Amino acid sequence: AESSSSVEENCTMMMKYKDPKQPINIRMKDLMSRMTLAEKIAQMTQIDRASATPEVMRNYSLGSLLSGGGSLPMTNANVEDWVKMVNEFQKGSLSSRLGIPMLYGIDAVHGHNNVYKATIFPHNVGLGVTRDPDLVKRIGAATALEVRATGIPYVFAPCIAVCRDPRWGRCYESYSEDHKIVQQMTEIISGLQGELPTNSTNGVPYVAGKNKVAACAKHFVGDGGTTEGINENNTVIDWHGLLNIHMPAYYNSIIKGVSTIMVSYSSLNGVKMHANYDLVTRFLKDTLKFRGFVISDWAGIDKITTPVKANYTYSVQAGISAGIDMVMVPFNHTEFIDILTGLVNDNVIPMSRIDDAVRRILRVKFTMGLFENPLADLSMVDQVGSQAHRDLAREAVRKSLVLLKNGNNTDSPLLPLPRNPNRILVAGTHANNLGYQCGGWTISWQGLSGNNHTSGTTILNAISTAVDPSTEIIYSENPEADFVKSAKLSYAIVVVGEFPYAETAGDNLNLTIPEPGLSTISNVCESVKCVVILISGRPLVIEPYLSSMDALVAAWLPGSEGQGVADALFGDYGFTGKLARTWFRTVDQLPMNVGDSHYDPLFPFGFGLTTQPVLGSS
Ligand code: BGC
Repeated sequence: AESSSSVEENCTMMMKYKDPKQPINIRMKDLMSRMTLAEKIAQMTQIDRASATPEVMRNYSLGSLLSGGGSLPMTNANVEDWVKMVNEFQKGSLSSRLGIPMLYGIDAVHGHNNVYKATIFPHNVGLGVTRDPDLVKRIGAATALEVRATGIPYVFAPCIAVCRDPRWGRCYESYSEDHKIVQQMTEIISGLQGELPTNSTNGVPYVAGKNKVAACAKHFVGDGGTTEGINENNTVIDWHGLLNIHMPAYYNSIIKGVSTIMVSYSSLNGVKMHANYDLVTRFLKDTLKFRGFVISDWAGIDKITTPVKANYTYSVQAGISAGIDMVMVPFNHTEFIDILTGLVNDNVIPMSRIDDAVRRILRVKFTMGLFENPLADLSMVDQVGSQAHRDLAREAVRKSLVLLKNGNNTDSPLLPLPRNPNRILVAGTHANNLGYQCGGWTISWQGLSGNNHTSGTTILNAISTAVDPSTEIIYSENPEADFVKSAKLSYAIVVVGEFPYAETAGDNLNLTIPEPGLSTISNVCESVKCVVILISGRPLVIEPYLSSMDALVAAWLPGSEGQGVADALFGDYGFTGKLARTWFRTVDQLPMNVGDSHYDPLFPFGFGLTTQPVLGSS
């Protein structure tokens, strides 16, 4: 027995990196000393699962995999299928020479949105309205549980863009035009990763364990400030503006121990962020002391040149030299690995740069316990779409609503609505459509065009449950005006808005309410008392139609729990939300943000009417 235990001891001494009792720095040093250049570069490589196999993971010992927005979604796959898939890839990695576990990342940007039956929380544009960092932290914790339940330990969230122009197709991924709200909302990181221990060193990444995930603050930096809100474009700003508007939330994320930061596709004063040494290395790493790893965006280094990938060697050199540690390749890993290897062998990229990148990646993996717990088990299956998480999402929905109009004067408010009229009309394309309610980044990258591709409660279903059983509900997507006039209704609820989109597909210079929404508003609201519920990722042009509406609620992209809307409509809870964005009158005013000299909004930043809960209701 004595001799076998000393053999074990010897082994452990030789393999310090595998010994959880050793301090992380020792483990990192030990592992790095064993790694070949090829193994180091492999750690810096992230590919899409669509181009991976367990054999590729073993043969190359790649550092990371992702399910990207653009890759095939595992629609309708259940939690068990996800766990099985992630584990198979992980077993490939674990059987590589050094057995370094890979880190699987996914865009869980409003709950675990790639997974059927997961809880879909409101998109960030709605969460900013709540001004409630504790709520957002709880959402982070719930998201971490649902994501971990599928075996995934890493999320590309939160997006901490400060969207300065709603014409931007990613405005809904931003909490606010105001950096202070975005800073507050970085509290989601404490929910995703766990609360930072008090004795932690500034800038060192932290993930509390098996129920938490590594987070990713994105997109560094200035993504929300591009000219005319054009996605991936150029942000023109002076240093003072950058430090005061787009940078503060990164500061907050770093002091909360964020594990990773994703570089933006956009340029800053003409310099592509993926090639921006001054900001990525000198400012983020050297000045702000960020010690987690910097990840590129999806094929982000390919876009350093125009046309895309015009000279990939040059892009790899520029990106890695700028300070990118892990590259979302995402498909042709051998090409990337060969080029980077060549650059190192030719002394173009110093070994110290590779070592810095690998050290950062390994630090995250060691910190989060990935070496000790690389495989997922099925014990967390019930977390996905649990009732507790759905209740939390419902709370978030009702707190994210902004009541913009309520009757013609305060003496005759329309809301809260009575629950027991004889007959009401629920109208609009968005009243009974979960996909529209969830918006982009839901099951598929661009979101869902149809209904029933995930589970939850539509606003129509929520209204049906909320009203008295004796009340008759007529539902029509786009009723004729004559029908509405003759239907003898007490009131109508019109639910219309934007159709799902993500990224560049959402860039929009007009910001009008798409048809048939506008006709539904006029057909209904000119004939009967109506409340309009607008489902959108941003403020839309509304001033010309406002007088026809008796009440107006901005519900943003509320996600899977439509009951949150009914909770406030019928007075179980009051409306409390305050605009976290300026509501413009015309697009000619844009960009227009609170504090601007030409500020003349329809509804100012911070606006929101309130109602009192109806006592004893429901
Ligand atoms: C987006 C990122 C996202 C990545 C991976 C990119 O197109 O800009 O926000 O994390 O894809 O899906």
